[in-house]
Amino acid sequence: MTKPRVRFAPSPTGIMHLGNARTGLFNWLFARHHGGTLVLRIEDTDRERNTEEARQVIFDSLDWLGIDWDEGPFFQSEREPVHRAAIEKLLAEGKAYRCACTPDELSAKREAAQAAKETYHYDGKCRDADVPADVPHTIRARFPREGTTKVADLLRDEVEIENAEYDDIIIARTDGSPTYNFTVVVDDADMGITHVLRGDDHLYNTPKQIMLYDLLGYPVPAFAHLPMILGPDGSKLSKRHGASSLLEFRDMGYFPEVMMMALARLGWSHGDQEEFTREELIELFDLDSVRTIASAFDVEKLTHFNGKTIREATPEWLAARVRPFLVDAGFDPDVPWLERAIEALQVRSDTLVALRDGLAPFFAEEPEYDVKAVKKHLKLGKAALLPSLADALAEVE
Ligand code: GLU
Repeated sequence: MTKPRVRFAPSPTGIMHLGNARTGLFNWLFARHHGGTLVLRIEDTDRERNTEEARQVIFDSLDWLGIDWDEGPFFQSEREPVHRAAIEKLLAEGKAYRCACTPDELSAKREAAQAAKETYHYDGKCRDADVPADVPHTIRARFPREGTTKVADLLRDEVEIENAEYDDIIIARTDGSPTYNFTVVVDDADMGITHVLRGDDHLYNTPKQIMLYDLLGYPVPAFAHLPMILGPDGSKLSKRHGASSLLEFRDMGYFPEVMMMALARLGWSHGDQEEFTREELIELFDLDSVRTIASAFDVEKLTHFNGKTIREATPEWLAARVRPFLVDAGFDPDVPWLERAIEALQVRSDTLVALRDGLAPFFAEEPEYDVKAVKKHLKLGKAALLPSLADALAEVE
């Protein structure tokens, strides 16, 4: 394979869901495996959601997982001149046209179609109307009304769609701003993207995008749509299933290397192997072993492997990892006994948060007692035994 160029194109929504993180990971693994290039493009054209904070979540998420990129970050919001130039070119070539139909007019027609139980299609009213530029207008792509378009996917059978089924889509809104399907095609072509790996929630956009590639005269990249991620109950993974954002798992004390392993297994497999290092993933990953059936995210398994990592680690390594959690909780981790305490606790901690909670009493200046437990267990008779227990322990090496 000639060296592929792939991209990760998240929208800054303020959250990096596991599905997005998996898309980023697969693009990164694909690029690294084939010695290709990963481009990072932030699709920040939704002005309301596009805050500095929302953008930072993307960088923090990639940084935590250990995903690096070769080109970018490019910000789609800064690329409007490129998009507008492409629109002008299509207009000049007669491959796009101004449409003066108002939203009211279009919804009335849509409702009429619904009432008649027919599929709504844009009627092409402005296709040959030569709407003047000074009338409020959107811009539509002039899609072919005859023939078919082939839609190929590296993970699926090729399908052939009837062009007539696809309306002339709006590529620029009344305020001149270009729409998603258009910007994504112009950017992918402009950035020389050879493979588009993304979630299968975009499957229905792909025929329109391929028609846009054809209209713009760009070569069509290869597509691979990755399977949906499910929760343990078989429905689409969401907040209902507990944490669904990558950084929540970081904050709960999971390791990025364990998370990476779990994300890689969402749709991809290598025999029955469940544990992989980063290097192994890069070496073994390829699209041939990606499935299209939805896969379930198993938090119990994640916790199991996280706990296993804690149990197998050296106290020294764990001390470095638990450090930020201790600092966050207001403890000073520079104590001489930290590694010894970790050694005592690591057998029964599955996350760094559990480890921190186990360590917390050691940091307390005044011993803190669990009032209920004191009432229940520290009866006078038993308490009297404690001094002799202390003496006995003092003699133990
Ligand atoms: N920005 C889009 C999203 O976050 C991705 C577009 C694409 O991959 O083509 O869903």
